[in-house]
Amino acid sequence: MCVFCKIIKNEIPSQKVYEDAFVTAFLDINPVNPGHTLVVPNNHVADMQSASNEDLSRMIIATKKVAKGILKALDYKAFNLEMNNGAIAGQVVNHLHFHIVPRTEDDGLTHWPGQQYKEGEMDDVADKIKKVLKTEGAINGVSGMKQES
Ligand code: AMP
Ligand code: ZN
Repeated sequence: MCVFCKIIKNEIPSQKVYEDAFVTAFLDINPVNPGHTLVVPNNHVADMQSASNEDLSRMIIATKKVAKGILKALDYKAFNLEMNNGAIAGQVVNHLHFHIVPRTEDDGLTHWPGQQYKEGEMDDVADKIKKVLKTEGAINGVSGMKQES
């Protein structure tokens, strides 16, 4: 069983700050700043692609509630919502989780570096993505997202 499943089932200690039938939120043991919280689905799934729409919806709704609570309780003005999806993206624990990272002006985190697209590259990249999304039935056109999938 993975470490977050053990936390969900109270088999190892944690500081849970929120739980409902679908989602649990607990303090990250190595916080960027105090109050850094992980929001996880109670079902074990490795990543976003494997998660049900219901679990993802419940996660984001719980994240909003918990983030508002963190800001108020600890007097923060801002937070980052972050997730590492896959090992190459830095995911270490293979149970889907959102990081709520409360921020201060002097905490040393910096924005990621941005590259420049070459001439025409941005159009090509967008076309490739839209083609796949259309083929897979995810969009009806650029502005119309379907409800499901
Ligand atoms: P990630 O790189 O997104 O997979 O991050 C995993 C996060 O889980 C790290 O920020 C860890 O500090 C945190 N973590 C790992 N084990 C525990 C634990 N037992 N309790 C709370 N947080 C944990
Ligand atoms: Zn798990």
